Amino acid sequence: MAKYIFVTGGVVSSLGKGITAASIGLLLKSRGLNVINQKFDPYLNVDPGTMNPYQHGEVYVTDDGAETDLDLGHYERFTGITTNRNCNYTTGRIYDAIIRKERRGDYLGGTVQVVPHVTTEICDSIRSVVTDDVDVVISEIGGTVGDIESLPFLEALRLFRLMEGRSNVLFVHVTLIPYLSKAGEVKTKPTQHSVGRLREIGIIPDVLICRTEKHLDAEVRRKISLFCNVDTEAVIEAFDVENTIYEVPMHLAEQNLDYVIIDTLGLRAGRRNLKPWRDYIDRVVNATKSVSIAVVGKYSELLDAYKSIREALQHAAAYHSVNLSIETVAAEDIELEGPAKVLRGVSGILVPGGFGSRGLEGKIAAIRFAREKKIPFFGICLGMQTAVIEFARNVLKLADADSMENHENTPHPVIHLMEEQKRIMNLGGTMRLGAYPCVLTKGSIARKAYGKESISERHRHRYEFNNEYREACEKQGMVLSGLSPNKMLVEIVELKDHPWFVGCQFHPEFKSRPIDVHPLFRDFIGAGVKQGARRGTK
Ligand code: GLN
Repeated sequence: MAKYIFVTGGVVSSLGKGITAASIGLLLKSRGLNVINQKFDPYLNVDPGTMNPYQHGEVYVTDDGAETDLDLGHYERFTGITTNRNCNYTTGRIYDAIIRKERRGDYLGGTVQVVPHVTTEICDSIRSVVTDDVDVVISEIGGTVGDIESLPFLEALRLFRLMEGRSNVLFVHVTLIPYLSKAGEVKTKPTQHSVGRLREIGIIPDVLICRTEKHLDAEVRRKISLFCNVDTEAVIEAFDVENTIYEVPMHLAEQNLDYVIIDTLGLRAGRRNLKPWRDYIDRVVNATKSVSIAVVGKYSELLDAYKSIREALQHAAAYHSVNLSIETVAAEDIELEGPAKVLRGVSGILVPGGFGSRGLEGKIAAIRFAREKKIPFFGICLGMQTAVIEFARNVLKLADADSMENHENTPHPVIHLMEEQKRIMNLGGTMRLGAYPCVLTKGSIARKAYGKESISERHRHRYEFNNEYREACEKQGMVLSGLSPNKMLVEIVELKDHPWFVGCQFHPEFKSRPIDVHPLFRDFIGAGVKQGARRGTK
């Protein structure tokens, strides 16, 4: 029978609830338990697929093709588990299910209400991730206690504990202990109020994770314990980490958070093994050389928009034990100032995925610069499509070559909508989403990186490489190194006579893990390190 941990947050947002939930997953996994993480988002969008990155950051894609919250990326990176569409529910999705049932007549003429129908639907969603081998479900509730929209979730959790039995459910509350410099002390009152709000709802937290910039001494811990009705050993400090977010689970382990959870839930667990994680952190801390990578996208200021890419680059830098500096470049700046000025001194250029036309010409200029100056280049999804446009325009000399997304009636649609896809779109489906198999060409950069012939990667796009241009591209030195098993879809392109130039139609960043770095990111950074060394000797 599975046990359940619910992670709520209080006082302010952005306390790192997602990282906390992921860290709990990692700690329990390191004790030999099978975990699954899940996120509830209280907003009304059915999923974040259509939300703007300014609102929501990156959309994370699962193997089974769900467009989800970026916290699922943290869960996968920390725990190594593969999440699925049941690992992310929004209020919109919950209501959507209820309204469909109501229209079908499933409620037999009854009045459909928040209590009990919405709360029951939430409880069913929690159980939807349980499989035979799951020991612990960790569900994070988005938002902050006290938000109107979180209320049905909290009410459902209260009920859930009653139904499952007290010993099978544990509540973790993540809160803030602010430091007032003028008073010279940390303040516990906001936490007391936040726990008070939870108790009014009928939830008594078992563990408090206190985000703080000052270490909490025994006296403060005792005070929090006393006023919040939580054991002192369950008052856990979450101190701002210095080098990498993967230090968070180590800090929590030092305070024996795993023991507190395992004891409270009466779980049978093995010995803790965090050795690969300590090695990872050591490699980050002891890195000497540096590598500088430009990420040329639409959003230069939005760190969360390319969250998984930033993470995957970090994993690769740690693998090579180099310090990574990521220069986020707005493609439009390249349009204004030219690539030579904006990209001066970088050892690698990455063009990430994206939608729409803004900055496309800047990305094309950046890719031309990478191709001609022989700077390692990695194009992901739109980045791969843009590399094909650049190649068609400047090598095949098809001046108007374009993607149909950017220019619908272009005379040379090197990236286009396939007939088959047009039909799907008419039926209301929109994108190629989720995991698809791909076969790699012998002798290619990709084949060498992966070390095998067949791979599976996650997709999120509408447009594809236009097969009519395959022959012309190959004649001029482009290698189509990854194809769908039926050979109809080009999934990876690369260039001969270049140190490292790879574009892939899928999103490899979603599958990179700190202790199992993605091979393409690993080799891209490897090429970047060599590039830096070459430049240094000039
Ligand atoms: N906009 C492009 C497409 O839909 C690329 C999508 C992406 O980069 N994720 O095909």
